[in-house]
Amino acid sequence: MYAFTYHRPGSARQAAGLLARKEDAKILAGGHTLLPTMKQRLAAPTALIDLGACGDLKGIVRKGRVVVIGAMSTHAEVAESAIVQEAIPGLAYLASHIGDPHVRHRGTIGGSVANNDPAADYPAACLALGATIVTNQRKLVADDFFTGLYETALEEGEIITKVVFPVVSRAGYAKFRNPASRYALVGVFVAKRGSDIRVAVIGAGEGGVFRWLEAETALKARFAPKSLEGLKHPATGINADMHADAEYRAHLIGVMTKQAVAQAVGR
Ligand SMILES: Cc1cc2nc3c(=O)[nH]c(=O)nc-3n(C[C@H](O)[C@H](O)[C@H](O)COP(=O)(O)OP(=O)(O)OC[C@H]3O[C@@H](n4cnc5c(N)ncnc54)[C@H](O)[C@@H]3O)c2cc1C
Repeated sequence: MYAFTYHRPGSARQAAGLLARKEDAKILAGGHTLLPTMKQRLAAPTALIDLGACGDLKGIVRKGRVVVIGAMSTHAEVAESAIVQEAIPGLAYLASHIGDPHVRHRGTIGGSVANNDPAADYPAACLALGATIVTNQRKLVADDFFTGLYETALEEGEIITKVVFPVVSRAGYAKFRNPASRYALVGVFVAKRGSDIRVAVIGAGEGGVFRWLEAETALKARFAPKSLEGLKHPATGINADMHADAEYRAHLIGVMTKQAVAQAVGR
């Protein structure tokens, strides 16, 4: 083992202060990504700042036309929240299908969004719903937040405090998951807000989460699975690995999009 110091501040403000003072410090949320990374020596922070006691980073509330989710809310809390289930059922469904029960009770929305794993589920919901990621310093719309594989617009010392999701008229999510890891081979979140329709894809893009604009156009004519018939996503720019080649993933994008729309319209 190598040495590091452990800190457990009581608020996001205190956490930000520690982060500014400690060289090579890292924030610890659920630890589901960070701790394995440290065990593999891919990260070796000299200080860990655990957000677990920051009460101001917890809680889920509805404020008019938005749902505000604290960064330290676990996936299980989002999945089981009556507020989320009522306002954006597709988001509760997404959270209920992340990993396994252990992962859902430790992993947090803030950690997931900050990590921006290309196969993680939340980035699809953030992009499709037009979420705002709020940090201790500023507000970033999802379109500007996710910048590449495991990359975000977060700057040094910045802490995600909450994620704000607009309440949309219809939303749905479908993922084809790897049976071993439960991560998505392909996941698609669709959202309809007035005439604005967004389709966001995870697990497939070489650059991480992306919008499928052709599907959005097709769904504008009529928001129904039938509108997607005959539409194919090209295999260019799509990931290929030992689990699935680019052609297969591209095919899954079409299938998952139809399923997500069917869920959104209640069929
Ligand atoms: C076996 C397994 C299966 C999984 N399956 C899925 C799946 O199906 N779908 C899915 O989406 N995910 C899956 N995950 C990922 C998991 O759900 C967590 O979301 C993910 O590990 C990150 O969240 P965390 O709270 O554990 O963050 P941590 O591991 O604590 O942190 C991750 C990174 O984010 C940074 N960070 C954490 N919180 C903040 C914050 N508030 N502000 C700024 N930076 C922050 C940390 O410094 C670190 O760099 C799986 C994980 C495991 C181990």
